[in-house]
Order: sequence, then structure tokens, then C-alpha cells
Amino acid sequence: MESFRLTEQEMQALCQKYPTPFVVISLEQVARNYDMLRCNMPRVRPFYAMKANPSPRIIETLAARGASFDTASAGEIEQLARLGVPGERMIYANPVKTAAGLAAAAQFGVRSFTFDDISEVPKMAAAAPGASVLVRIRLQNARALVDLNAKFGCEAEQAIPLLKAARAAGLHPAGIAFHVGSQSLSAKAYTEALQLVRRLFDEAQGQGMALTTLDIGGGFPIPRAGGRAVDAAAMMQTVERQIERLFPETDIWAEPGRFLCGTAVNLVTSVIGEKKRGGQIWYALDEGLYGTFSGVIFDHWSFEFESFKPGRRRRVTFVGPSCDSIDFVRRDVLMPRLTIGDHLLVPDCGAYTSASATTFNGFPLAPVFYWEDEQAALTALSYKAAIA
Ligand SMILES: *Cc1c(COP(=O)(O)O)cnc(C)c1O
Repeated sequence: MESFRLTEQEMQALCQKYPTPFVVISLEQVARNYDMLRCNMPRVRPFYAMKANPSPRIIETLAARGASFDTASAGEIEQLARLGVPGERMIYANPVKTAAGLAAAAQFGVRSFTFDDISEVPKMAAAAPGASVLVRIRLQNARALVDLNAKFGCEAEQAIPLLKAARAAGLHPAGIAFHVGSQSLSAKAYTEALQLVRRLFDEAQGQGMALTTLDIGGGFPIPRAGGRAVDAAAMMQTVERQIERLFPETDIWAEPGRFLCGTAVNLVTSVIGEKKRGGQIWYALDEGLYGTFSGVIFDHWSFEFESFKPGRRRRVTFVGPSCDSIDFVRRDVLMPRLTIGDHLLVPDCGAYTSASATTFNGFPLAPVFYWEDEQAALTALSYKAAIA
């Protein structure tokens, strides 16, 4: 599965039109990623984890293809409701829910929740009597880039007692949820988790509780990260086969975030300064850690850079424009000689980037353009040039 990537000509044409930095989203790539997931895991109902990139047009693109959505707050539920997504197509999957979030869930008809502690049961029972709840269990996965099990999930032994407590409080104990960690690099974390959950389903059955739903969370990787290639399709097929074998009757949900949007976005940034430090050239960019590159901090991500320039490559360092000395975007990147004003393309920039960007130090958020709009405009322009 290829990423969306502007050509040099396309990037330069956009730079004629807009000052950098800016990001370009390919909605077609989002749709392709969704279709690819559906095709490799037909048993799975995807809930897009919109925190990865809440662009309204990404949400509309996925909603039009039938996707459901994973939400974590009143703000996310309200944004989806404004875009016309009904509550039945949302899960409120934050194990700790706020009063505002529960009120939004009640207002918009969100009736599925996850939880991982007994303290959450009376809150859900009061706000949404009879709602379906999934208990989130904790897993170990050393092969994921971002560990989501440090903060979330109960121990496996707690799962059934918690579901029973939910049932006693008037909720519907629907099943179990897990998250293997983000950018998981192998199917093994999923297949091991599926075996563990199968035992829990059997145990629940033995105690008179027929569970119907399993939520396998997010974590599906984009194909290239930090120079490592992952075969996401093969991973998904392995997971699907294990689901078929262990859960032939169960409703299977997933919460993909990064996989759906990560490869659909390019950032274009420019060199705005340079200096020599410790025998290496440092280039200052017009976008940094407080902007789209926030993923360096929050998502432990190492971004790739394309300069389209020929010439001998040397190790350089990229820093951001802010006056904070934490603002190192990347060290030791192999680059040809660059000069002030050069543009750089950063592919695979869609997940956990714009979503967590700030306006620290007065640098505005990089504006977002959509490739489908731009492409139409560029084609019209080159047509006009051709007939002139
Ligand atoms: C962040 C998150 C996701 C998405 O994870 P990805 O690794 O981006 O697929 C899914 N579910 C929950 C509960 C999350 O917090």
C-alpha cells in the first residue's frame, strides 16, 4: 500500500500558490486505506479513532464509506454529530469519562462504552442506563511504537467481575476491548490477545454471561516508519484468520487511527536559516515541534524528508522555528546541500501531527489543503497555460 506523495512539480506548483508551511491531505488515500482494511478484514467493523486526525473532510470521507467512529470526549462526539454521524455509529472509548462527555453521549444517542475500573460503572449506569459496555484489558506488547497499556486496561482476571458489576448496575455487558499499542509491528500481539480473550469469553459463558462483542482496538501500522517496512495487509490477514477460527460468531470491532490517515498527508516546509554546530550543518525550518512535528514528542515519531535536490548527501540536523531549545525536529538526516528558501516534503504526516499542533510562540497552525481541490485547480491552470 503506497503512501500519498506529491511529486516535485506538484509541490513546487503549490508553493507558488501558498506560503509554507502547509499540509496537503489526500482524501482518496484515506478512502483507499479504509477499503484496504475492509478488504483484508471483512469481519471487522472499523471505528475511526478520530483523535489521530479530526479533519472534517477525513471524517466525511470515512462516514460516506460506512465507517463508525471511536470518540474520547464531548468535543469529539459533538463534532461528529455536527457532521451528521448518528450516535449508533460512535463508541465512547475513553475508559475515564467526563460529565460533559456522558451528557453528550446521552444527547446524541451514543450507547457503547469502554471502561477499565469499577468506579466507572455507576457513572455509566446513571448517564446511560442499559447501554452496552466493553471492559478494556491490559496487554503487553514490546513490538509497538507507542505503549497504550501503561495507562489503560484492567488485569485479565478483573474482566469478568467488572462485567458482572456492570450487569448488576443495569448495564448490558457486551464484551471485551483491548489495544495492542500504536504502530504495532507484528500480528503476534493481536493473535496472543485473541487467545487470551477467547478464554475470557468461555469463562463468561460458563458463568451465564454470553458476550457478543470483541473490540480489537487500533495499532495497525502504516507501511513505512523510521526506515522499517511492515506488511500491514499480511498482518491484517493473519488477524482475520485468527478471528475466523476463534470468534466465528462474535461481532468484531476495531478502532484504527494511524492506519487510516497516516499515509494520506504531506507537509511542505522550508529552510529559513542555517548554522554550523559541532561540525554539522543545522537547518532551521518554518515548522517545528510545536506545530505539525508535535508527533516527535507525543507520538515518538521520526519523520522522513524529501528535498528533491541532487548532490552528495551529508548528515544534517533540522530544528524548528520556536525559541525553545527542545525544538529539534530530527538529528542526523542524510541531505544534499540546502539553501534558505528550499522546500522540503514530509510524507506520512497524517496521524498525531496537526491534531496535537499548537500556536506556541505566535507561529500559526499550518493551514490544511485538500489534494482533490488543488489537483483540479492545477489542472485548470496548466490547461489555461497550454491554450494561451
Ligand atoms: C488512540 C486510540 C486508538 C487509535 O490507535 P492507532 O494506533 O492510531 O490505530 C484506538 N483506540 C483507542 C481507545 C485509542 O485511544
